[in-house]
Amino acid sequence: VKSEGRNGWCFYHAEMDAVVQQRLEMEHELRTALSEQQFQLHFQPLLNLDSGEVVSFEALLRWHHPHRGMVSPGEFIPVAEDSGLIGPIGDWVLREACRQAAQWPTPWRIAVNISPLQFRDGSLPRLVKDALKASGLDPRRLELEITESVLLADEKHNLKILNTVRDMGVRIAMDDFGTGYSSLSYLRAFPFDKIKIDQSFVRDLPHDQNALSIIRAISDMAEALGVHITAEGVETEAQMEALKAMNCREAQGYLIGRPAAAIEAYAAVKVA
Ligand code: C2E
Ligand code: CA
Ligand code: CA
Ligand code: CA
Repeated sequence: VKSEGRNGWCFYHAEMDAVVQQRLEMEHELRTALSEQQFQLHFQPLLNLDSGEVVSFEALLRWHHPHRGMVSPGEFIPVAEDSGLIGPIGDWVLREACRQAAQWPTPWRIAVNISPLQFRDGSLPRLVKDALKASGLDPRRLELEITESVLLADEKHNLKILNTVRDMGVRIAMDDFGTGYSSLSYLRAFPFDKIKIDQSFVRDLPHDQNALSIIRAISDMAEALGVHITAEGVETEAQMEALKAMNCREAQGYLIGRPAAAIEAYAAVKVA
């Protein structure tokens, strides 16, 4: 029994080492990914459900790893956040998103995900200003997507940053709404332009009564506060219909379009 326990411990140790090793390796590779131009932005359309028109795109980061192929942001963003690399990577995303959007054939809005860690050193307003200036993009076409954790940590400091950016004309959206503990209270703390209902609620539509009740409640409250809601992860017509019936204003998901490098196909799209 004793030796089994020891083996168990050794095995556990070896696995831990492998995990740590992999993380260090990824961190090392992330350092060169920017200079080696291994990052690319994909764009996913957001549809206005009243007009049936595509109104904006969300920029989603992709990493084309030289050996491992496409690595998903869910895997490497946390490593970038832990290592401080999210600073330079996030700045690249911001600049590249603005640069491309400024050249689009239609003045769609562009939504950029911002990590809570990009708020830490206070440079965000200047970086946003620089990206807008370098690209010539109208600030009103830029939207930053943040999660409630931004207001969870250092609320005063981060609210000041958000207000500074918003004063430039940039829109602020709350992402993954409903997944945290205090989403509701943050709607009072800051006048968000948009809230994005997390796909975990949308997934259970149209039959799950709890999901329906929650989205209906969010929708009613948003209307009272004058905030627009967008539903994420819409994959079926039935989900789309349920969302329309609940006065959801915008939708995003595979049903409308998957994230892709080229957006030209949407220039003429109008969905009834
Ligand atoms: P997110 O901001 O919540 O983005 C939505 C995610 O849902 C994207 O995954 C998108 O591809 C996926 N998605 C869209 N429609 C559907 C659908 O109909 N069904 C399903 N099952 N999924 C759908 P992706 O691109 O893998 O990104 C994952 C997360 O990585 C993002 O979640 C965001 O938190 C983060 N991320 C992506 N790009 C960036 C970035 O440039 N900066 C930062 N800080 N985070 C990023
Ligand atoms: Ca997002
Ligand atoms: Ca989201
Ligand atoms: Ca998410």
